[in-house]
Amino acid sequence: VVARYNHGAAFPDELRSWQAALRRQFPIIVANPGLAYLDSAATAQKPQPVLDAAWAYLNSENANASRGSYTWGNRTTERIERARMRVRAFLDDPDPSRSGVHFVSGATEGLRTVARDWLTGYLRDGDEIIIPYADHSANMLPWLEAVQLLDRQGIRVIVHEMPYDSAQEYDVARLARLVTDRTRFIATTQVHHVYGGDMNVHRLRRVAGPGVVICVDAAQSAGHLPISVRDLDADFVVFSGHKAMALPGTGVVWAANRQGPVFTPGGWAGTPNTSGIVSLAAALDWLDAAGTTRIARWTVALGARLTDGLRRLPSYEVLGCQDSLPAASAVQQRHGIITFRHHRIGSNDLGFVLADAGFLVRADDHCQGERGERTTSVRVSLHVYNTAEEIDRLLSLLAELDTQA
Ligand code: PLP
Repeated sequence: VVARYNHGAAFPDELRSWQAALRRQFPIIVANPGLAYLDSAATAQKPQPVLDAAWAYLNSENANASRGSYTWGNRTTERIERARMRVRAFLDDPDPSRSGVHFVSGATEGLRTVARDWLTGYLRDGDEIIIPYADHSANMLPWLEAVQLLDRQGIRVIVHEMPYDSAQEYDVARLARLVTDRTRFIATTQVHHVYGGDMNVHRLRRVAGPGVVICVDAAQSAGHLPISVRDLDADFVVFSGHKAMALPGTGVVWAANRQGPVFTPGGWAGTPNTSGIVSLAAALDWLDAAGTTRIARWTVALGARLTDGLRRLPSYEVLGCQDSLPAASAVQQRHGIITFRHHRIGSNDLGFVLADAGFLVRADDHCQGERGERTTSVRVSLHVYNTAEEIDRLLSLLAELDTQA
């Protein structure tokens, strides 16, 4: 996977006209030429066809999903089933007839759903699980909550911390030593939301063996790179629709159902977010047509440009980046997420100064779990609408601030 996107600092100029045509499809970006939106890891902007799809649905046949009584309701039901199939195709699902697709409001609710609706019923006394403590807290707290719930019923589950190496990737050798015949579940993250690194989760199945259930948090990879559940060999994949260019309040739990049905495929509970689900299907159409491989090349190249620039400014420290490594090394395969600090300027101040200058970044501790960074930092997160010019302008400003600090 690394080799596929390793373009180092060489910029893919041949993608510039492709990118320019895509950028023009984002009304909010076009309407704000003075702003650089650099917070796509929080939520992504929406292209016109996605907005049009939701609007057209609401204007033409908005209804609650239903079966049999009238056309709009039936059409809504069909659209939701189609959206489920769309998710399966997006994830390269090898067995759509077995898998379940459950719509939720975002990755947080998705991970919590897996924890509450499935994990609590699956674990037995003495079972072991391995979960990340330095990824997003949405991928730690629900598992701990499930373990607490079980504990109250007298079921003791042993929790291990997913080991990391110095490049903030999962340490597969140490993980292998943690896995026992009582290991039932491993929670992972595909792309880290602070370091931007690809955690290479496809390596985990070999270490875990066939019987361990693997849940992948794809919140920062969906829409940024091709995802194949065949490659990942995962049991659950959870992602945020809204970070993948669908409307707010959208998210997905995909379940392979190899461990028996988890969520009834096509099952219903309450009123679904119909226009959101319609927008999600349109967003996945848009992303696949744009090409997630090309999107990855673009955002990795922008990230490398920013990282290389920051490393020439010694007062800035890029988190998760080892200075001893050459610029184009694997550790810099950042999928459009670069997080840094200045040695003298506080990150919150830096965030405000950048916002004043039109750079919409995030400055906080980024919801990292227990082992996460404890001091604030500035995160720049990119998507296909961002440009090399925005990165260069940002670097110029950061260099200027450095000389003034
Ligand atoms: N997991 C990761 C890795 C994330 O980056 C985020 C959001 O930032 C989440 C989970 C939570 O996603 P949502 O905002 O859709 O609940």
